[in-house]
Amino acid sequence: MEKRHIAILGSTGSIGRQALDVISQHRDLFEVELLTANNSSELLIQQAIEFDANAVVICNDDKYQEVKEALEPHYIKVFSGMQSVCDLVTGDNIDIVLTSMVGFSGLSSTVAAVTAGKTIALANKETLVAAGKIVMGLAAKHNARILPVDSEHSAIFQCLMGSAGAPIEKIHLTASGGPFRTWNRKDIAKATRAQALNHPNWSMGSKITIDSATMMNKGLEIIEARWLFGTPGEKIEVVVHPESIIHSMIEYADGSVIAQMGHPDMREAIQFAFSYPFRLPLNNRKLNFAELGNLSFSKPDMEKFPALKLAYLSLEKGGNMACIMNAANEAAVAAFLQERIGFYDITDIVQECMDGAEFVAEPDLDTIFRSNEEAFRKACEIIDRTAGRKSF
Ligand code: MG
Repeated sequence: MEKRHIAILGSTGSIGRQALDVISQHRDLFEVELLTANNSSELLIQQAIEFDANAVVICNDDKYQEVKEALEPHYIKVFSGMQSVCDLVTGDNIDIVLTSMVGFSGLSSTVAAVTAGKTIALANKETLVAAGKIVMGLAAKHNARILPVDSEHSAIFQCLMGSAGAPIEKIHLTASGGPFRTWNRKDIAKATRAQALNHPNWSMGSKITIDSATMMNKGLEIIEARWLFGTPGEKIEVVVHPESIIHSMIEYADGSVIAQMGHPDMREAIQFAFSYPFRLPLNNRKLNFAELGNLSFSKPDMEKFPALKLAYLSLEKGGNMACIMNAANEAAVAAFLQERIGFYDITDIVQECMDGAEFVAEPDLDTIFRSNEEAFRKACEIIDRTAGRKSF
């Protein structure tokens, strides 16, 4: 395989750091071109020097001088601001763009990379949730390949390889169930920030870990799968699988089910997106089936985890509804992490925003940005009201 030149958007986050670990195992095959971060200047500087990046972007202007002074002696170019990310990802020196930034803020740079025909290693699922139809349309138009990094979607993608284009009958999207799988609704209602951040299987950033506790993460993944694989919502079924060994499954018309498995380790999906269609060695833990013993499965509880219902509803409505759901969720999760609202307030706020929002059936990109902003603002109003009440 020829050497691949990689941009990592969000290199100081959980996925970004694991991506650099993958690259460090294959320095002869992967070259770091661009690293970007919002605020974590110290780690960004360290990464840029270690991997000899061509350029970095620190989005926070206040940190620009610090990063510039540290990296100039190493002949590493330093930029600041979101617009620089959008400009630099289109560079001829870049083959693959890993989108591992958090939330809707990743949309504009993803659109820039897709429009430039880059291969996208997609870790930022909110991009497809908010603007799936538009982003997939642009990818087709500009011949940009989108390779999933989300473990479930990487699994589905891998299960589809070698199926000769046979249509998917059903996607079985596995979910760990998060930290509250065995809790009752009354206890979940009183769950604290620390309890929600305590994910049983996966080590991830704080936003996605809260999304896993509400199961909104699985809701977002249903929508992500809908756009990545063109499978309608009614053919995407969530199955709770607490061991997180099967990362997802595809069912074909003849009833044959193909699963992809491994210990939960994001580096596997990241590496496969970087090396596709080739497979490279990785220093991860390998499966021992005799030691595993049993794998278990159950139906998700939609009453305990209303986020799943909201996700299916937003797919059914279409248009800008998933964008509204995502924006409200981002605002509510941030408020929960600040301990301003209770656990079920998150999904209550999302529901209220979806009920009250202005629906647009065929949104363009400008409408998506506006809907996101409006839903975020509306959610913040409800949060202020809710936090004032301190009902939890
Ligand atoms: Mg996932």
